[in-house]
Amino acid sequence: MSKNKTRQIYTITPTLKLLNLQLPIPGHEKFIGAYLFCGERNAVVDVGPTAAVPNLLSLLAKIGMSGEEIDYIVLTHIHIDHAGGVGTVIREMSRARVLAHSRAVSHLVAPAILWQASRKTLGNLALKYGDIEPVPEDRIVVAKDGMKLDLGRGLVLEIYLTPGHAAHHLSLFDRGSGVLIAGEAAGVCIDGTIRLATPPPFKFEESLSSIDRLIALEPRRLCYGHFGCYDNAPERLVLIRQKLVAWYEIVGSAAKGGKNLEEILVILREKDRSLDYLNGLDPDEYSREHAFLINSISGLSGSAC
Ligand SMILES: [Zn+2]
Repeated sequence: MSKNKTRQIYTITPTLKLLNLQLPIPGHEKFIGAYLFCGERNAVVDVGPTAAVPNLLSLLAKIGMSGEEIDYIVLTHIHIDHAGGVGTVIREMSRARVLAHSRAVSHLVAPAILWQASRKTLGNLALKYGDIEPVPEDRIVVAKDGMKLDLGRGLVLEIYLTPGHAAHHLSLFDRGSGVLIAGEAAGVCIDGTIRLATPPPFKFEESLSSIDRLIALEPRRLCYGHFGCYDNAPERLVLIRQKLVAWYEIVGSAAKGGKNLEEILVILREKDRSLDYLNGLDPDEYSREHAFLINSISGLSGSAC
């Protein structure tokens, strides 16, 4: 399939759409997803980086919605690829409230530290994602664990704090449809292959507990921030849990043995053949995945120390 024809809007349920925030960055044609819940009130989950804001608004327009019709922006976490554009897009969503983890609030209001961390972690990719503008504090609502966001017409989103991938991570569960929006708490799924997303400062125990909480919800469908929605959510959650435990041990012992990050990736590729998906990627996708895998190994080795 031609990359230019990558699908942009996916209907997941009658009240949920996945929007592909296709960025003009090599390897990002099908990588960053935003979710749109439509009830009496409307909520966007994650908005992507600043560079994706025009795409987000034009996808909303294709659905027949303007930014003015968005009541809530829910942020699974505030990494730049999920939330960097929130301060920009909120100007077009004048009635929207931003629902985020309490640990995200200071960084949303004053994003300088977040920007520096993004630059350090992502290098020049952060520049392509675009600058991070602040969010006015009076637009932010702090998410509480177990809170319910009632969008009307029977659509109720349950919010659960799910730290691990990031300290400021939360997940959303639509119990009515069994859909779980897991951000990156359940890893990522690249063209059907599930991999870990454990960047520094990764917290192993917190991440395991978060996955266990998500399993206990008994979701039917699992929606990833990167990328797409899949059936068999329970099996996927169990698989990422097993992978997390296995990689933690492999990376921990290799790091103690003095191996560097690249050497550890070679070991992981030998022990976890699901990483063979790397062989099928085009060069841009490969370099994106390679960078994120090295980051994940770095997070796991830091957590194991
Ligand atoms: Zn993230």
